[in-house]
Amino acid sequence: MRLHSTDRVHPKRQTDAIQGTIRWDAEKSIWFFLMLTGGFLAIIWTPSWSGFLVFLATTAITVCAGHSVGMHRLLIHKAFVTPKWLEYILVWLGTLVGMAGPLGMIRAHDMRDWHQRQTVCPPHPSHGAGFWQDAWWQMHCRFDLDYPPHFEIESEIANDPVYQWIERHWMAQQLIVAVPLFLIGGVGFILWGVCLRVAISLSGHWMVGHFAHKGGHQGWTVEGLPVQGFNLPGLGLLTCGENWHSNHHAFPHSAKLGIDKGQLDPGFWFIKSLAAVGLAHKILGPTDMPERDGLKRLGPDEIGVPQTT
Ligand SMILES: [Zn+2]
Ligand SMILES: [Zn+2]
Repeated sequence: MRLHSTDRVHPKRQTDAIQGTIRWDAEKSIWFFLMLTGGFLAIIWTPSWSGFLVFLATTAITVCAGHSVGMHRLLIHKAFVTPKWLEYILVWLGTLVGMAGPLGMIRAHDMRDWHQRQTVCPPHPSHGAGFWQDAWWQMHCRFDLDYPPHFEIESEIANDPVYQWIERHWMAQQLIVAVPLFLIGGVGFILWGVCLRVAISLSGHWMVGHFAHKGGHQGWTVEGLPVQGFNLPGLGLLTCGENWHSNHHAFPHSAKLGIDKGQLDPGFWFIKSLAAVGLAHKILGPTDMPERDGLKRLGPDEIGVPQTT
């Protein structure tokens, strides 16, 4: 079987994209459990409207400006350009979502993307399992290939001392938020603004990934691939535009995820507002790069379904 390459993932002669083991990832699993426990405590031990507002505000900023715009569209896909200081801030905000550091995020994203571009994709990176098993696999385990491909992050990111520092202490970055929250609102604000926020962000991220590979609306399909991305209509505001996953599979380089009429995309609104004040340029749209092989526009009545599970 011929394996495809991507910008950062290059198969070696012996690389096998399927044979591997799903293993419990202690660090990831315990971290999630701690955040979930703290999140429950926020609700039952320190319930307050001010805590709830802290949760909403910190979640909106870290998920939208951080994860969706800074980490995903800017660092991983290079869909636009900002001054370096702003790139650092946005990527740092994305790290606060509590998933991984910048290098770990690139790796997780690009390995999944590489898997999903192959003609056969194993069940872990394709979200092939059912709801609870996939939750366990994605939030508590990792998938180790027996014969992995060569993975390399470009040196301007991999050797950047700021990214290396964020990466080394990605969990501890929460302290930069937790200390001021504690000074303002005590332990309760940490439980709302760190623990509950991280627990909900991680669960929400997994859930979008799960359902966006299961079925639903597709604006485009990539023919010949077993794993397809699907749009999840109605979730634009909640997911900052990351719900338009069929569009993302069709145009991975595009800063704009909500492409068709009526597809709300707060992440792209944020990029446009940065551009309006001169802080974002070279913003790539869907047609600014060569089309993917096998890309096909679907009519409004053609509802996509995964070709395998
Ligand atoms: Zn996908
Ligand atoms: Zn992506």
